[in-house]
Amino acid sequence: MIQKRKDLLDRCLACLDEQELIDFTRELIQIQSFPPAYNERDVALAIQKKFAEYGIDAVIEDLDQPNRANLRASIGQEEGTHLVFSGHMDTVPPVDTGWDRDPFGAQIEGNYMYGRGTGDMKAGDAALILAMCCLKKAGIPLSGKLSFVATAGEEVDMYGSKAYAKAHGTDDIDAMVIAEASDEKIIVAEKGALWLKFTAYGKAAHPGVSWEGVNALLNTLKFYEKFRHYQFAKEADPFLGANTLNVTTMHAGTITNALPEICVSTVDIRTIPDISHDDILRDVDNVLDELRAADPDFKMEYEILNNSPCLSTDLDDPLTQAAFDASETLFGKKWEPSGVFFYTDAVSLPHSDGSYAPLLIIGPGKASRNHKVNECVEIDQIIECAKLYMGTAINYLTEA
Ligand SMILES: [Zn+2]
Repeated sequence: MIQKRKDLLDRCLACLDEQELIDFTRELIQIQSFPPAYNERDVALAIQKKFAEYGIDAVIEDLDQPNRANLRASIGQEEGTHLVFSGHMDTVPPVDTGWDRDPFGAQIEGNYMYGRGTGDMKAGDAALILAMCCLKKAGIPLSGKLSFVATAGEEVDMYGSKAYAKAHGTDDIDAMVIAEASDEKIIVAEKGALWLKFTAYGKAAHPGVSWEGVNALLNTLKFYEKFRHYQFAKEADPFLGANTLNVTTMHAGTITNALPEICVSTVDIRTIPDISHDDILRDVDNVLDELRAADPDFKMEYEILNNSPCLSTDLDDPLTQAAFDASETLFGKKWEPSGVFFYTDAVSLPHSDGSYAPLLIIGPGKASRNHKVNECVEIDQIIECAKLYMGTAINYLTEA
């Protein structure tokens, strides 16, 4: 970092109370916010209170389901670049069995804090919030705006981020940092997801005179014989590895002695940069057309259940450079760029022209522990991330 920004960062670091950050993380974990009740508004109230202690007005935006809300807060000025810090307030359910500790106890053992939502992602939320509070307390002169957007329902249907996009639009978002677990790496790419549901229609008949019917299950298998070997236009990405295509469910038939009339199946496709989902859908249509042409009894249609593009940010993007540079200053070595197989709230926040703001995922913990029993997070990573958020914001949003 250049000296001027280093000095600003030092001012900020002096405002960080590490114990306060740990205590606030524990407080967020102790608030239960999983389906079906969710109650993200309870989390939002705790966040609003923390911001208020630093003189930041946070707005709770109620959603149309009871006790569910988003929260947003900003510092800096309206003109200039707008950097958004974002995290979700919901968690997956604790799962009833197998926890060695209370999933909402936020128990600390050595360098680990245990609980549902530690890594995914209340520790990340707390670190983002405290970073912003310290930037404010240190009086850092931002040349643009830094916002924190906390969302509801990310784990299920991106309920909160979709509502945010609808209420505020997203064209003013120039860059985003999402605090999902990244294990001391700077995530520059997340895989896309394309989920398809196929329905094949047949004609019921007694198996003894099967030529009078059409077997919807066999027609589905015919389709998959072709489609499961789908060749993607590009095979692999340095950060995301290969595309994947998996048939994940299939249901047909009710009894042994009748041809199935209907067969419903789903496919989960995960994509890397430069793979067009529209091209995949066109290829699906072509396979279906071929099968229909070969057999007039072949009837199959599909619907799109999820179409979330792969997002990737250039290594030389100013945001990526801001984070690399800050990590080097703070920790003596540049955190490595990497990619993740899951997608985040960012997919719900496209600009109106369909493009996406540069996105980084940086957060405490290891994503491999998410959604499992005994979820935990490294306490030193919570603190590291808070510092890195400050450094990244200073690099990105202050004059050189
Ligand atoms: Zn998450």
